[in-house]
Amino acid sequence: MTDRPLTLMAVHAHPDDEATGTGGVLARYAAEGIRTVLVTCTDGACGDGPGGVKPGEAGHDPAAVAAMRRQELEASCEVLKVGHLEMLGYGDSGMMGWAANDAPGSFWTTPVDEAAARLADLMRQYRPDVVVTYDENGFYGHPDHIQANRITSRALELAGTAPKVYWTTAPHSMMARFGEVMRELGADWEEPGSEEPEMPEIGLPDEEISTWVDTTGFGGQKFDALAAHASQGENIFFLKMGKEKFTQLMGVETFVRVHDTTGAELPENDLFAGLR
Ligand SMILES: [Zn+2]
Repeated sequence: MTDRPLTLMAVHAHPDDEATGTGGVLARYAAEGIRTVLVTCTDGACGDGPGGVKPGEAGHDPAAVAAMRRQELEASCEVLKVGHLEMLGYGDSGMMGWAANDAPGSFWTTPVDEAAARLADLMRQYRPDVVVTYDENGFYGHPDHIQANRITSRALELAGTAPKVYWTTAPHSMMARFGEVMRELGADWEEPGSEEPEMPEIGLPDEEISTWVDTTGFGGQKFDALAAHASQGENIFFLKMGKEKFTQLMGVETFVRVHDTTGAELPENDLFAGLR
């Protein structure tokens, strides 16, 4: 036994990704006495401004958006009982193809080694047993999510790898159910100018998912964490579901295990299987 607490480190791109992708596991493991560390790489300045103003529109002030999203992130962390929030503070690169991709200070243009060195310092400080981030495609192709994957992989090399490393993912069965609910909700989705959200080909066939973590008991916290990020238009869909439906649909968080030194048998239902 060591005197160091078991530690989960989640590396995310923007304020709100911690809630959508890993809100359930952050809340669950904190409740189980595991130390949770959230690293958020960018300031989210390309997100929606107050009143839903989109980046590039009149009245979108990136610095004000970043400040608002920082407050939202802190509120979300409080709900999820995140033990330590570390912000790397890189500029939000916007969606693929936006001018913000190449703006000075954007996360996308930051050399991988430079950002990875900072993340590796955090890994040396917290010595996480489990590290979670996105897959090489950033789950859905967002440049900052791709970059989060790249710096995490590099930081693990620099700091000496963690016992278990995971990429977040979603099983195709869940994506299909999710699409149904979105269409259902879309029926009374009447915001002017809003379009039916598209469901790109993302996630994995169910049989390729290695790790299914039941977070049903923490669905309320996950919902409330997302509600803390209500300024972001894409979260409104989740919030429209209501807590009960949201928990039913989002009550399991799924991962692909990409590194393991424990030998825990797959499929597993616990990120810490083999560690306690
Ligand atoms: Zn994001």
